[in-house]
Parts: sequence; C-alpha cells; structure tokens
Amino acid sequence: MLTKSVLLYLSNSEGFKNFLTRFKSFNNVTHRFVAGEDLTDAVEAIRQLNKKRISASFDHLGESISSEAETREEVREYTHVLDSISANALDSNVSVKLTQLGLDIDRKLCYENTRAIVEAAARYQNFVRIDMEDSTKTDATLEIFRELRREFDNVGIVVQAYLYRTEKDIEELLAIGARIRLCKGAYKEPESVAFPDKKDVDANYIKLMKMLLPSGIYHGIATHDVKMINATRQFASENNITSDRYEFQMLYGIRRDLQEKLIRKGYRMRVYVPYGQYWYPYFMRRLAERPANVWFILKNVMKG
Ligand SMILES: Cc1cc2nc3c(=O)[nH]c(=O)nc-3n(C[C@H](O)[C@H](O)[C@H](O)COP(=O)(O)OP(=O)(O)OC[C@H]3O[C@@H](n4cnc5c(N)ncnc54)[C@H](O)[C@@H]3O)c2cc1C
Repeated sequence: MLTKSVLLYLSNSEGFKNFLTRFKSFNNVTHRFVAGEDLTDAVEAIRQLNKKRISASFDHLGESISSEAETREEVREYTHVLDSISANALDSNVSVKLTQLGLDIDRKLCYENTRAIVEAAARYQNFVRIDMEDSTKTDATLEIFRELRREFDNVGIVVQAYLYRTEKDIEELLAIGARIRLCKGAYKEPESVAFPDKKDVDANYIKLMKMLLPSGIYHGIATHDVKMINATRQFASENNITSDRYEFQMLYGIRRDLQEKLIRKGYRMRVYVPYGQYWYPYFMRRLAERPANVWFILKNVMKG
C-alpha cells in the first residue's frame, strides 16, 4: 500500500522522471507498457496486435496540458490517428482524456474539441471512448459525454468500480444507451468517494458487470483480473449472452498471455495502446498497480 502511494506520488514528479530517464536501460523497459513516442510506433504496435486478432484503442499520452493551443494540437493529433486507422485498415478506435482537450481550461473549449474528434470519427464510422480521470473530474466528464451522446452514437464512456457513485451513474448511462467501459479505477482517491478495500472494489466490479451485460448494449469489460474475467464469462454463459455481445479490454503489455488465451477461446479482446512524449505519469501509474513491476524495472536498469 505504501509502495503504491509512493509510486502514485512520484508519477507527478518531474525531478524523479529526469533522474530515471538518465538511464538508457530505463528508457528501454518503458516500451513494455508504452508503444513509443510517435504515431508510427503505435500504428506498428497495433498492426502486430491485429495480426493476433486483437482489436485496439489508440491513446495519445498528453497529460498536464495547460493552454488552448495545446488542446487544439491534441485534436489535430487525434484526427491524424483516425486518418491512419483508415489508411492502414487497422482494427482500432481511439480513447481520449478530457483534461487533454481542455477540461481544466474551459468547459466549452473541451466540449468543442471532443466534439471535433467524435465528428471526425463518425465520418470514418469509428468510435471514441472518453476515459475517466480522477473523481474531481467525474461530473464534468459525464456532462460532456451526455451532451455528445445526444448528437452522436459513436461515443462511449468509462466508469470506475472503486467509486461509490458508479452504480447510480450506470443506471443513468444505460437509460441513454451509453456504451460503457467498466474498469476498477487507477487514481488515488479519498475514502469519502471510493472503496478503500480492494475486496469491496472487486465485489462492486462484479455487481456492476452484472448490470452492464444484460443491457443489450455493447460494453467493454476492462480488467486483467482473472477473477473478474471468470465471473464475467460465467455470468454471460448462464444468461445466454454470447461472446460477440461484449468485449474484454486490457492494457498494452499487461497479461499478454491472457489476452491471447481469451482470443483462442473465442472471446473478443481490445488492447489500449498508449503512445506519445508524455508517457511518464501513465508508466508510473502502471507500476503503482503492481509494485512487483518495480523489481522488473530495477533488474533491467541494473543490467543496462
Ligand atoms: C482498457 C483499459 C482502460 C482503462 N481505462 C481507465 C480509465 O479510463 N480510468 C481509470 O481510472 N482506469 C482505467 N484503467 C485502469 C484500471 O482502472 C485499473 O487500474 C487497471 O486495469 C488494473 O486493475 P485490474 O482490473 O487489472 O485489477 P488488479 O486487481 O489491479 O490486477 C489484477 C491482476 O492483473 C495483473 N495486473 C494488473 N495491473 C498490472 C500491471 N500494471 N502490471 C502487471 N500486471 C498487472 C496482475 O496479475 C494483477 O494481479 C483502464 C484499464 C484498462 C484495461
């Protein structure tokens, strides 16, 4: 627990990032979780996944964006991504974070930017997933999603099982036909808003999955947790929900064995592929989820 908190704290530290990136070998191991810095790196990573019948979602890492010009740059990047998906005939959609598109600068700017990406995706009959960030952003993120959903059906949202509010959010989201990605939640949240114990988060995840699957809407069950995956498979089979009516989702580089195993068993799998210059906070959050990864990193850094 302490290691997790320290890693989440360090995920915001520029100084620690500068220290680590002095080691060439550290830069090599980051490729385990991040496809690379450029769009071409992500295109290549997704091509390889598609060869294994795994779908993907592009995620341009651009956290800490603070100016309107930078948010417009993000829209341009995502438009290029959508062009590239089409040009390379990739099986992939895109995931966006609203802070990247101006949520902390101006709500209207954020709405317009997100709308521009959703509209571009609609032209390609592609789909945009709005990621969920920390709990201070939940209301604003849901509001923008709802506004877009009134106009578009190629936009979806993420909910986090660690938040107490999520059950009610799901009820409201299902009522507007929202496509939902269910995840446990990746941020450090206070006990006032989120279950502090992992076992409660897991129990809530299963309860929420059981709300989503019978809805007749195509949802994403995002987890690497075998218990969550098996509970989903069992519930689906007991309720005659065939494996083409939902998909499992995992993160790039995590549990590749399980990704391929589920594909072999006839399930759908989508992998979230992050790329971009601002890979550091994302990378640290992945380490925090599994502090055992720190040993993997340290071993490789020492080797280098
Ligand atoms: C496709 C996708 C999209 C996501 N989008 C969001 C989002 O928008 N907002 C948000 O808050 N969170 C998001 N997350 C992250 C999510 O909330 C969790 O933090 C993350 O998935 C870890 O939880 P878990 O369900 O895998 O279960 P855990 O109980 O954390 O892990 C279960 C098992 O999975 C493996 N595992 C998990 N994480 C790692 C890791 N980093 N390295 C190695 N092994 C690991 C381990 O074997 C572990 O025992 C997303 C996750 C996925 C898969």
